[in-house]
Amino acid sequence: MASSPALIANPLKDGHGRTISYLRVSVTDRCDLRCRYCMAEEMTFLPRSALLALEEIAIIAERFIARGVTKIRLTGGEPLVRRDVIDLARRLGGHIGRGLDELTLTTNGMRLADHAAALQDAGVRRINVSLDSRDPERFHYITRHGDVTRVLDGIAAAKEAGLAVKINMVALKNFNADEIAPMLAWCVDQGHDLSLIETMPLGAIDEDRTDRFLPLTDVFSELAEAFELTRDSHTSGGPARYWRVGGGDTRLGLISPLTANFCDGCNRVRLTTEGRLYSCLGHDDQVDLKAALRDGGAAALDAAIDEAIAIKPARHDFRIATGSAPAVARHMSVTGG
Ligand code: SAM
Ligand code: SF4
Repeated sequence: MASSPALIANPLKDGHGRTISYLRVSVTDRCDLRCRYCMAEEMTFLPRSALLALEEIAIIAERFIARGVTKIRLTGGEPLVRRDVIDLARRLGGHIGRGLDELTLTTNGMRLADHAAALQDAGVRRINVSLDSRDPERFHYITRHGDVTRVLDGIAAAKEAGLAVKINMVALKNFNADEIAPMLAWCVDQGHDLSLIETMPLGAIDEDRTDRFLPLTDVFSELAEAFELTRDSHTSGGPARYWRVGGGDTRLGLISPLTANFCDGCNRVRLTTEGRLYSCLGHDDQVDLKAALRDGGAAALDAAIDEAIAIKPARHDFRIATGSAPAVARHMSVTGG
């Protein structure tokens, strides 16, 4: 049963009148892959001593639930490389139906086969799995280390465990444009949803993002010729718009922060594994919740959360142009996708 915002004593409202109801938690900045649009080949990760302990993540997340957050997504880096992530999922899953409506996870799928059943047991019902290509060589190229067979096995295990799967596919020029329509057909066949994502200028990588930028406006025109697409009113309070495919259950999402900006309805904030709360993916403003919690306890934590929500910017300002610096220096893997 969805929780009622009216019962929340001190709900989170930003300076632009938006209610914050969605928390993304990056449980690690580490990853077993190095997707070319996400990371450089050589990455420096945070020392383990800088990370929030599981208990601290849980306390912070629980504070957000008490303040009206109804949806939490565990992400990273790769969340399934953090050893205690299932314990965290179990603890947060215990809040489902008691303030929390949904606990979800975004994964690269490499370790999903081992964890799918445990995630289901913890209360997770839907997951996002990143899959930019189903071709083994292309997948290995774009991820630098990935094995697509493992990911497909992970997706099958998730389905078997009763988890609904949404495929995340970053649309990349000169790479996977020809695979988008077949990927949608495969998702329809398998009963998965598909979200297409525009590559965003976050963090330094080893290549020029302009070479890879594929506007989803172009992609959509092509898909609309091949599939019957009906606009769906579903919203996740982010930069995505949705369509139903062929009158069936499959939902196609277009996440187009570059060609279409939907910041007006943004309902989310992001906690990094270091305990910093970012209120916008495209800005550097953040508040250190770890310091607040460690130095001042619950009251200081609440004040720090309020501070972060109050400075949430009206919108991001992403641009992709040859030679231009990333919009922000941190990678998507730090703040979580
Ligand atoms: N490692 C997990 C995964 O890949 O699903 C979770 C974290 S990853 C940062 C979350 C999502 O962000 C993935 O779907 C990934 O493709 C996407 N992503 C990463 N860097 C991106 C970028 N610069 N622009 C757009 N999407 C990006
Ligand atoms: Fe890792 Fe996900 Fe980034 Fe790929 S997109 S490098 S899997 S964090």
